[in-house]
Amino acid sequence: MTLEQLQLPEQIHVAMIAHAEFCLPEEACGLMAFDDADALQMVYATTNLDRSKVRFTVAPEEHFGAIRHAESRGWRIAGSFHSHPESAAFPSARDIAGALDPEWLHVVVGLANGMPEVRGFRIRDNGVSEVSLVEIP
Ligand SMILES: [Zn+2]
Repeated sequence: MTLEQLQLPEQIHVAMIAHAEFCLPEEACGLMAFDDADALQMVYATTNLDRSKVRFTVAPEEHFGAIRHAESRGWRIAGSFHSHPESAAFPSARDIAGALDPEWLHVVVGLANGMPEVRGFRIRDNGVSEVSLVEIP
């Protein structure tokens, strides 16, 4: 997946913010499924095993469940989203160090200043590049 821009369906945008707010004061996390055309089809809200304000680990059984669900529809898991309860919507040093797949989309929901901000990134060789998220109906 090499898109510089991603169409973000409004209901997925809203769902990620809702999950982020629901999990406060801890970080929320989830996984993102894409179809063959790299269109975002679904996000899965998952449990943050770390129960932390500054890091997340997707619960493995939920990760496997999302893979099974996505594959049953011909999609693939190729991204994650997580929240920053007290910081900006930008990957932290921990996020950058932990990014394993250069094709993966990393969406961060920043909740620091009362106005949720949702931004997308790709992380390659410890470098961060923004994927602009364009909301669609
Ligand atoms: Zn983070």
